[in-house]
Amino acid sequence: MTASIFDLIKKRTVLLDGGMGTELIKHGFPPGACPETWNVEKPDIVKKIHKSYYDAGSDAVLTNSFGGNAIKLSLEGLENRCHELNHAAASRAREVKPQGCFVGGSMGPTGKFLKPQGPFTEEEFERAFLEQAGGLSDGQVDFLLIETQYDLREALCALRGARKATTLPIFVTMTFNRGPRGFFTMMGNSAAQCVEKLEAEGVPAVGANCTLNSEDMADLVKIMRENTALPLIAQANAGKPDLSAAGEVSYSQGLENYIRFIPSIIRNGTNLVGGCCGTNPEYIQKMAALIK
Ligand SMILES: [Zn+2]
Repeated sequence: MTASIFDLIKKRTVLLDGGMGTELIKHGFPPGACPETWNVEKPDIVKKIHKSYYDAGSDAVLTNSFGGNAIKLSLEGLENRCHELNHAAASRAREVKPQGCFVGGSMGPTGKFLKPQGPFTEEEFERAFLEQAGGLSDGQVDFLLIETQYDLREALCALRGARKATTLPIFVTMTFNRGPRGFFTMMGNSAAQCVEKLEAEGVPAVGANCTLNSEDMADLVKIMRENTALPLIAQANAGKPDLSAAGEVSYSQGLENYIRFIPSIIRNGTNLVGGCCGTNPEYIQKMAALIK
């Protein structure tokens, strides 16, 4: 009988992984291509990135399937490979998973909008996520993470779709901007509204990722903690991306400054902590030193 991720959450802060996109680019991934195809075409690179996070101290890594829903894949004409690419994403992470560690199936947003802002119905969104969740579940991930959601309605479609495909635990993280009135998603959902609604829907762990740097994330965690007793997830970006004249992306916050706010992120109530855009295994190693 293997321990579940919930046993670990009860014991201590769980360490997730950092950015995938930036690591793929470091390994030669061409801009504009579809990252999910590398689960099949460049399996060794995807495995190497996952392994570098486990080696740095991650208890769980997230699969290379952020854009793996059929709606997003259809931009590249890959919608018919949805199950295959997600199954492969799960396999690549599982192949390097150490004993006692976990694999989370990453499910990012469609990038589109529901009616009336966009052309899609809730049923269409639900179907796209159902198919992705089926591929990840067949590839034997340990849990699903519906992440970087900018619309609570879409997150709920993803949740319904994924639940039709699998009985695995399904976590949800939303992405928030900080404004004068507080933290809101692009579609105007407040942090309190998101965690309360997701808790009411029976989601076992909720939180936030991307967009915010670690300093703002620490403040957001405090607000989420005031509005739910659930395990909280926080994965901050390393600041804002800057594009150099040579076309290279760097992130504004920097390693030392990023790490400085990790103790507040944890103290303010985070149970699962990791990085997002601009973070790499070095960030995770520093976080591991704080946690373990
Ligand atoms: Zn991010």
